[in-house]
Amino acid sequence: MGTIWRNSLGNIDRTFRFIYRHSPKWTLLHIVTATIMGLLPLGLIYLIKLLVDEVTAAVEEGGAGGLENIVWIILATGIVFFLNSAVGSWFNFIKEKHTRQIEDLMFGKIQAKASTLDLEYFENPHYHDVIYRAEQESRYRPQQIITGLITVIQNTISLITVALMLTSLNWLIIVVLAVAVLPAVYVKFRYNERNYRLFRSHTEDLRKTFYFNRMLTEKSFTKELRLFGLAPYFRRQFEQLRDKVWRQKYRLLRNKTIYETLTHLVAAGAIFGAFAWLARDAMQGAITIGSLVMYFLVIRRGFTFLKSLMDGFSKLYEQNLFLDNLFEFLNLKPRVQAPKQKVPALKQPLSITLKGVDFRYPNTGAMVLKDVNLHIPAGKTVAFVGANGAGKTTLIKLLCRFYDPTAGSILFNGINLRDMPKEQVFDQVSVMFQDFIHYHLTAGENIWFGDIAKPYDWRYLSHSAENAGIRERIESLHDQYNTYLGNLFNNSAELSIGEWQKLAIARAYFRDAGLYILDEPSSSMDAVTEQEVFSRFKELIQGRTAIVISHRFTTISMVDYIYVLDQHTIRESGTHQELMQQEGLYARLYRTQARHYQ
Ligand code: ADP
Repeated sequence: MGTIWRNSLGNIDRTFRFIYRHSPKWTLLHIVTATIMGLLPLGLIYLIKLLVDEVTAAVEEGGAGGLENIVWIILATGIVFFLNSAVGSWFNFIKEKHTRQIEDLMFGKIQAKASTLDLEYFENPHYHDVIYRAEQESRYRPQQIITGLITVIQNTISLITVALMLTSLNWLIIVVLAVAVLPAVYVKFRYNERNYRLFRSHTEDLRKTFYFNRMLTEKSFTKELRLFGLAPYFRRQFEQLRDKVWRQKYRLLRNKTIYETLTHLVAAGAIFGAFAWLARDAMQGAITIGSLVMYFLVIRRGFTFLKSLMDGFSKLYEQNLFLDNLFEFLNLKPRVQAPKQKVPALKQPLSITLKGVDFRYPNTGAMVLKDVNLHIPAGKTVAFVGANGAGKTTLIKLLCRFYDPTAGSILFNGINLRDMPKEQVFDQVSVMFQDFIHYHLTAGENIWFGDIAKPYDWRYLSHSAENAGIRERIESLHDQYNTYLGNLFNNSAELSIGEWQKLAIARAYFRDAGLYILDEPSSSMDAVTEQEVFSRFKELIQGRTAIVISHRFTTISMVDYIYVLDQHTIRESGTHQELMQQEGLYARLYRTQARHYQ
């Protein structure tokens, strides 16, 4: 508990500074209006006391004496009443604006972190939990912290004022009232912590429910779900998981509610005692009727303030536990260590060398690549061939420096990738990934995203589109390059998978890179289109360095040099003719496919 408390305060302090630095003006305004909001009701109570006393005195005197005072008090009451409502409205406005600012700040922080995190974090299930918790929960926690802090400040000031107003009262009453809220506080803290632990233990289950929900509602799943009749199964899974999570949550909530009811009894008992005491004092003439009214109201208010203050503290404590998730995420360190200094600009096209490269994925530790050695001279096109799971895509990830090899080195123009900032490596490589993105944005943007440093100009765009064999299709769309693609937005045009693939190739072409990589460029194209696209590609990258991963030997046989991956390493290499003459794995695969086509 001790360390938790220390951490709590640390997180709250850190969050407050963080928010204050970002928006000092709105933080101060937020605090000031909240304080005024806390004090005005007490002012009203004091005015009511004055009013009751003046009226009682006037009644006792039996005349109109004190009428002027009464009018002034009523006027003041009216003004305070108006201020109370007006400040309330402004407080809501300020709060809304400030919390929105904090939310945007958090969006920014989380997006900035998530978009620069190493691929490894996204390929490792453990980190999905961390990312999920940060994304789902922590985004709005900081604004709740500020609201909690402001509640605490507001109620502390109000309580001090209440204490001042009660100074003439027996201090024992104050102590009894203060002690009476302690059980409620204890219950709150205890259950907040349990709630947090429960949430952490449920992260994976919650992610699964989201996944089932996505499958049941998103387009990419619709065909298989219907055909295989999977929807009822997934719905059951979804319900069972939700049920499991909620059953535990409800149990916790129910217990909390039972204990809370008991603590309310204690508090009500204390209030009852205090009011009885006050009534007796008034009947004995020890206090005026106005004071009696004031004490009644102030004690009731004070009690609310005290409870809010404790609530504020316990909320802060809970938020703070949740903030651990945010800081856990923001503290994730880059795995791929890179120097800040760029190396001098690399001459294009690149020559690529791999020396004794071994690789294991950090999460599984299984050997994926073992002692891979290869050299691609500048300006040559090579193909990687191999069965599924041979490690071709992994090799591409290493060339992009998404991961560093476990051993050995990768060199661009003789320079080790480890000596280059990641961004410099990214700039040098243009890839059409196997699982490339369908941007549901305009056709032009889908190409332009290959290099957004270039101007968005349809002449450049159409050049790339032409080379990828998709120009005519785009120009036939109702708004040509400005047509939205996909099916998310109104007036979009949907493309076939093969057309999306050509668009992805156009995007890869659009960048002037030192190394082009096409991972399964033609899996969704018919053989004729593939031949056509690839011939064009060959022509276009004439004199540039390129790597193609393909299962189609028509494509493979066109490249300068071929590497055959098998059993984690390069088993054979050579030109198509050489490999055919070797009568090894390549020749066998080639003949199998050729027979299949015949
Ligand atoms: P290919 O592209 O040749 O089909 P991959 O490079 O995708 O092969 O995969 C090579 C091996 O690495 C496979 O055994 C696969 O299971 C494993 N693998 C791929 N990605 C990951 C990952 N993110 N984490 C752990 N293992 C992976």
